[in-house]
Amino acid sequence: MSNPNRIQHGVSGDEAAALLADLVAIDSQNPPRREKPIAEFIVDRLDSWGIDARLFERPDAERPQVIAEVGEGDPGAGTLILNGHVDVVPPGDAEQWTHDPFGGEREGNRVYGRGASDMKGGVAAGMLALRAAHESGVDGRVVLTCAMGEETAEPGTETMLEEVSGDWGIVLEPTQLVVDTVGKGLAWYEVEVRGDAAHASRPGLGRNVLDALFAFQEPIDTYREEIAEREHPLIGESLCTPTMLEAGTKENVIPDYAKLTFDRRFLPSESVEGLDEEMETLFDGLREEGFEVSIERTRTYEAAEIDPDHEIATVVRRHAHDVAGIETDPHGKDAATDQRNFVNDAGIPAIIWGPGVSEQSHTVDEWAPVDALVDGVEVLCRTIGELCVE
Ligand SMILES: [Zn+2]
Repeated sequence: MSNPNRIQHGVSGDEAAALLADLVAIDSQNPPRREKPIAEFIVDRLDSWGIDARLFERPDAERPQVIAEVGEGDPGAGTLILNGHVDVVPPGDAEQWTHDPFGGEREGNRVYGRGASDMKGGVAAGMLALRAAHESGVDGRVVLTCAMGEETAEPGTETMLEEVSGDWGIVLEPTQLVVDTVGKGLAWYEVEVRGDAAHASRPGLGRNVLDALFAFQEPIDTYREEIAEREHPLIGESLCTPTMLEAGTKENVIPDYAKLTFDRRFLPSESVEGLDEEMETLFDGLREEGFEVSIERTRTYEAAEIDPDHEIATVVRRHAHDVAGIETDPHGKDAATDQRNFVNDAGIPAIIWGPGVSEQSHTVDEWAPVDALVDGVEVLCRTIGELCVE
């Protein structure tokens, strides 16, 4: 029989905070792709605990990932994959920080620093739960995968899931221990508009690209209103927001080139191919006016979703409620995560769940709460005891 109390961790707030501080103190900014030292640190630390951990050199040997496994691998018991990413976004203007972004300073219940919430706190909880599973013993298997390149949409987790398989996944992004079963997708589009040389001899027609774009505001607005009617009960509406515009060369020169960037947030019911087609169709209107339009999707994180009542969601939700009083209503994340690699690419049901605070992601003076970190380890241990013990 499964036994949620089988896995004992003995982790104190001081120990969890110290491990998180160690992780924060290793600068793993991406860009510029500095994941290697932290991957080596994680392998060394797990190894010192007697855990089978290794660097995984695909897809980029210069930016190794971490795969660690414990358990007997008995087919009668399940395999749970815990997933973190070790890269962090740059801290931005360090002058604005009142704490050292790579100091891991602790103040009361908080550990400060870039990545504390997103998501070195999740990685720390995963490491400590793995140690507990190793020491208490599991019949099935618990795997910890630590990815590179998550912040830049690279195939880190995707590649590791070609190597390891499992029955369930937990993507340890910051959710304050709330279970998210769906993540919104993200695509960036660059739309380049050029005046058509064939029309250059016809004064006033299709030459000023900025005039043309301003006149094209209405079709863009109509499209945005249309897609806003596509709604998901847990993650809200589909969005297409213009975020950057580059145009013009000089005060007295008619602009014949512009680049307009859109941030497109989408739902699991929308396909990336469908979005591409919609953007092409939208800008056909400008093409008909004689402009050359080329559209490139420069970044993509697919949306992903599992049934809110799937076993992995209900088990973690119940333990999070019992351990920390966390709400049990269905919930989703309005941002994309590597959950998509589990669900869409590897066919492994996975939730987004972790001890960090999502509002702290990418902020100045980012912090993570220590008590949630310890609670997170306890929830993971109970989940492992329930799912990976016969
Ligand atoms: Zn993250």
